[in-house]
Amino acid sequence: MIIKHLPAIFEPARPVLQKIENAGFEAYFVGGCVRDTILGDKIHDIDIATSAYPSEIKAIFNRTVDTGIEHGTVMILDHGTGYETTTFRTESGYQDFRRPDKVTFVRSLSEDLKRRDFTINALALKENGEVIDLFNGLEDLQRHLIKAVGDPNERFYEDALRMMRAVRFASKLNFVIAAKTFEGIKQNAALLDKIAVERIRVEFEKLLLGQNPVAGLSDFLQTGLYQYCPGLGGQKEKLSGLLLLNNWHLKNNEQAWAMLVTQLGLNLRETGEFLRQWKTSNELITSVKKMLPVIAGLRTGDLSALTLFKAGEKAAQDANQVTKLYGWSLPDEQLKKQYDSLPIKSNKELAVNGGILIKDAGIKPGPLLGKILNQLTIQVVNGKLANDKQSLINEAQKIKGEG
Ligand code: ATP
Ligand code: MG
Repeated sequence: MIIKHLPAIFEPARPVLQKIENAGFEAYFVGGCVRDTILGDKIHDIDIATSAYPSEIKAIFNRTVDTGIEHGTVMILDHGTGYETTTFRTESGYQDFRRPDKVTFVRSLSEDLKRRDFTINALALKENGEVIDLFNGLEDLQRHLIKAVGDPNERFYEDALRMMRAVRFASKLNFVIAAKTFEGIKQNAALLDKIAVERIRVEFEKLLLGQNPVAGLSDFLQTGLYQYCPGLGGQKEKLSGLLLLNNWHLKNNEQAWAMLVTQLGLNLRETGEFLRQWKTSNELITSVKKMLPVIAGLRTGDLSALTLFKAGEKAAQDANQVTKLYGWSLPDEQLKKQYDSLPIKSNKELAVNGGILIKDAGIKPGPLLGKILNQLTIQVVNGKLANDKQSLINEAQKIKGEG
């Protein structure tokens, strides 16, 4: 196969490959960028593989950066852009079912392609548009199949993360996992235990945000992989409920996780524990926790001003997006209107602060001050009290008087 017109993203990199070839080596675009070119999908980054050793690449180009030289990766700087090139390599060892114990640089493209996970990811593309297809990846692309390169059992035994990659590509590309590959995952699912949760999480998030998350999730459940993920063991029934929901349209990780904890029926405390097990960032945990009361309000149809205020606009919109799956959402414009009509959007907009209450309302610094400020905020948000300084001071003194 020859691709006559490469997508624009390749153009500036072509002279780099030509220069490597002119020096007597081979160089190809490889991996996801080749797959996505043939599918006509958006390409996010390009990977280059070469027969030249890192030292040889560095001799050819004036400006390079050693970004991962022990794995054979060198970044070539050309006209202000960086191109990562990786020397062809084989991997061996995999004593721990994850990273190889040893990578060996080799001169042969086929050796390099052989170690890749799936046939659709084992295509190489020359700078002139010629596609090298040693493992029938083109046919599998056409048939929308995810098939391991070589014996699935061996490949998943070598690196258990590949099983998560299979289900995430099923979702991302809306492809089907080939029968033997699927069996291989079923056989080896328990090896996922050996993989760092952060790496599993990356693939799981991509699954939830893919083109056909229901397909990916169904594979994730049917193969048994879910049993080896934090907080999901024993939850097949609840998770299967998600397979009945169409039109996910989730847009970010916050939404994906909020949907998941909603489906699992977790409360705020359990949500924190669950997400910590998945080692998500504290920022993500905070965002999801802000979304949950909004989701609950939308669910029961009594979303209060205070709930919206506490969540903030971003979490409210994210929550609304999640509830679309369940049919609990408000039209986006209506939610926006409701949010925009809040008397204040943050504590900072309150017409008084601690300093003013101390100075003008005679309230002493301490826990009572915080409580009064909180009370004032709630009353203003609820429209019970005007947000002007004097009304707030009067109310503060009244609260103080009541003790
Ligand atoms: P995406 O578009 O999501 O980035 P990708 O195919 O580029 O998809 P990457 O994780 O960026 O995925 O990996 C780049 C390439 O490296 C893959 O296409 C595949 O050839 C190879 N690869 C990545 N991870 C593995 C793995 N665990 N085992 C074998 N090959 C892998
Ligand atoms: Mg990639």
